[in-house]
Amino acid sequence: MSLRKRISLRNSLAFRLTLWYAGIFTLSSCIAFFLFYMLISSWMRDQTDQELSGQVNRFSALLDAEGVEAVKNGAVIEAQAAGVKKVFFRLLSLNGQAFSSSNMSYWKDINVSGAAIKKLLRGRNSVYETITIPDRKEEVRILYALLSPSIILQVGQAMESYSRFLDAFKGIFIATMTLLIIIAAGVGWFMARRAVSGVEAVTRTAQKISGGTLKERVPVKTQGDEIDQLATTFNQMLDRIQTLLIEIKEMSDNMAHDLRSPITRIRGTAEVTLTTGKSLSEYEGMAASTIEECDRLLDMINTMLMISKTESGVDKLSREEIDLTGLVRDACVLFQPPAEDKGVTLSCDVPVRSHLIGDTRMIQRMLSNLLDNAIKYTPSGGTVSVSLSENDEKDVVITVKDTGIGISPSDLPRIFERFYRCDQSRSQAGIGLGLSLARAIARAHGGEITATSTPNQGSTFTATLPKSFPSDAEPSA
Ligand code: ADP
Repeated sequence: MSLRKRISLRNSLAFRLTLWYAGIFTLSSCIAFFLFYMLISSWMRDQTDQELSGQVNRFSALLDAEGVEAVKNGAVIEAQAAGVKKVFFRLLSLNGQAFSSSNMSYWKDINVSGAAIKKLLRGRNSVYETITIPDRKEEVRILYALLSPSIILQVGQAMESYSRFLDAFKGIFIATMTLLIIIAAGVGWFMARRAVSGVEAVTRTAQKISGGTLKERVPVKTQGDEIDQLATTFNQMLDRIQTLLIEIKEMSDNMAHDLRSPITRIRGTAEVTLTTGKSLSEYEGMAASTIEECDRLLDMINTMLMISKTESGVDKLSREEIDLTGLVRDACVLFQPPAEDKGVTLSCDVPVRSHLIGDTRMIQRMLSNLLDNAIKYTPSGGTVSVSLSENDEKDVVITVKDTGIGISPSDLPRIFERFYRCDQSRSQAGIGLGLSLARAIARAHGGEITATSTPNQGSTFTATLPKSFPSDAEPSA
């Protein structure tokens, strides 16, 4: 079933984006239309009002110049000239009674507004009104104005042409808007589909991966947009997971191999003793070698557990004040006999008095692992030097340098992995956990161990530890 089919159209992001897009477009267009419509209709009303007030001024001047009869005649002529269906005039006395008018056959529904007369009598010069003739649904703008202290002129003008214009404007707007909304929804849908297609590609890849193919990657376009970033980050995450899985597989392969060897040896010894051994001393020999192999197995399992606990922070480190100078010196004294046995010169250079807050047992273990390796991987006649220094008054730096077999550049990045052993060191005893534990201890103290090496010339391991590590330091993997 395709992804699009599984997500119903109504719930799809593309559909909702399109809806929002079209909705916002419609709303903003309607607001713009409303404002524009209001502006035009107010401008048209102002135009009409100016025309009406122009009529009042003309009749007022006529009254002053030629008297009331001239005004009566003028009203009739003016209405006929403009069109009796367009304007009308009424001359009113102060009580609102009409005593003269233009042809009112078309305007017979229009009465005199008592409220307007009252306003004029209260001192207003002119009063405007807009009324709608119910039968014809036609709007008329009317002006009441005092022509003289006893004569009121009521002049009205049909707003029909303006209404027709506004109706046409409304019609054009609705037609255009309908078309534009359809186009906008189409464009919105297209854009939303384009935007979510990247997310769908990520989902499709994730589905294939959940089906078991971790090699799949999301295709990344070159636009550099958010979807590309998502795809790149997703691919990086997959790379990391794949690397981790390979590492875990290699680690379990190595572990299985390292566990199988001693068990095979134990079984072999037991079998040989059972089939051939008769004397008590042979059985004692078998028991002794079994104990030895079991100790080695236990050591491996305990070291693995210790690495896990140190990395995860399950076992809280103790926070003692450690005399690091003394600790390094003691370690050198301890490793002096094995170094001498191997013909390796062990030198210890600890000029500073240095203290550190940390777990004594753990720091001892870390240093022992580094020293043990240095002596183990340095042939007779070589040198191992241990030094201690301080860095910025914040960190202490322990360096273990040897002139041994060295590590190849391809192995160097992997030596801290669990069970990893370089090929050239397989002749030496070891299980490949010493450096993993040393690094886990350094990191649990808020520090780090790094290594540099030149094959056949020697290696240098540098442990940098803060003098005091925060008690709630997050253990790093
Ligand atoms: P191992 O028990 O094999 O010594 P480690 O974890 O301590 O395990 O070291 C991992 C690998 O790193 C070793 O097998 C060895 O190949 C390499 N290595 C560690 N220290 C040194 C060193 N000082 N000189 C050369 N190779 C080293």
